Amino acid sequence: MNGLYKFSFFKVLCFCLLSVFFSSNCIGFNKNKNVLAQFPKAETKQNFPKNNDDIGKFILKYEPTNSNPEIQRIFIESQIFDKIINNLNNSGLIMRQNIPVTFQDCGDPNAYWSYKNKEIIICYENTAYDLFLFHEKAKYPIEKAMEKSINETIFAFYHELGHALIDTLALNAVGQEEDTVDEFASVMLYRNHDKNFAAEVVLDSSEYYELLYKEKEKSPSWDEHTPHDKRLFNLVCFVYGSNPEKYEKIFIEKFNLLDEENIASEDNLKARKEKCQQEFTKKTDSWNRLLLPHYAIKNNYQRSSFPINNSPGMSERGIYW
Ligand SMILES: [Zn+2]
Repeated sequence: MNGLYKFSFFKVLCFCLLSVFFSSNCIGFNKNKNVLAQFPKAETKQNFPKNNDDIGKFILKYEPTNSNPEIQRIFIESQIFDKIINNLNNSGLIMRQNIPVTFQDCGDPNAYWSYKNKEIIICYENTAYDLFLFHEKAKYPIEKAMEKSINETIFAFYHELGHALIDTLALNAVGQEEDTVDEFASVMLYRNHDKNFAAEVVLDSSEYYELLYKEKEKSPSWDEHTPHDKRLFNLVCFVYGSNPEKYEKIFIEKFNLLDEENIASEDNLKARKEKCQQEFTKKTDSWNRLLLPHYAIKNNYQRSSFPINNSPGMSERGIYW
């Protein structure tokens, strides 16, 4: 073995010396190999799990809460998240691992994807703060304020789901990730639910950003999130793009709200309207294409009957998208 080892070492040494001579080098070569090894292997048909039991699931958990027991009770009794999670688990989406979706006390209003623990966390305080804004600040009656707060929490969940899928499925999502997952959340809501319900959730979330904007809550300039007023209008733009006739009024109302001192000209409005319509189609198609390889082939998996709109459909290869 020693002789062989010496012989191999001698060969490698010669190769390195030759490589250096021809302006390549051993260290560079090895580095490239390591870089390539970091890329996940492409998903192939052979790698697909054979049945539903082999696919990772989203697992809903409600941790005990000291701060907001009433909000926890409403979530548990309404079963809204049970339905959303069940819908996802039966959508044909092939996950490589189980992902907990955990409601818990955090100490501040937040929702986030834990890269370390591979877990979606939704803080009870997040919904409590929504309720404060919609009820105390915007003066909605408590029932309406709660409905809007639940909708904002649903949007926050889909936003975090975007982070989760980009991470765990190694999606090729480029650009500012916070904006990307706002778009993902909007697309998935339209894809997985009735479109009127999806529009309501996105618009209630846009109103949440409107209230933050009015409260003059600003994130520091180093923060990765887009400012509230831009997020508000991006969401309204998406909904407008889904049905320009239906959402014309709300679009103009919000457009003027953002820029009170410089009222938008007719030309500004016209140009933005056209863009919103293009963007709705473009973003929906882009996400559908990006997710296509991660959905199961028809007949192996059944979609649930929980509100799913009729679009988009199936690819020529018989794959849901
Ligand atoms: Zn985020």
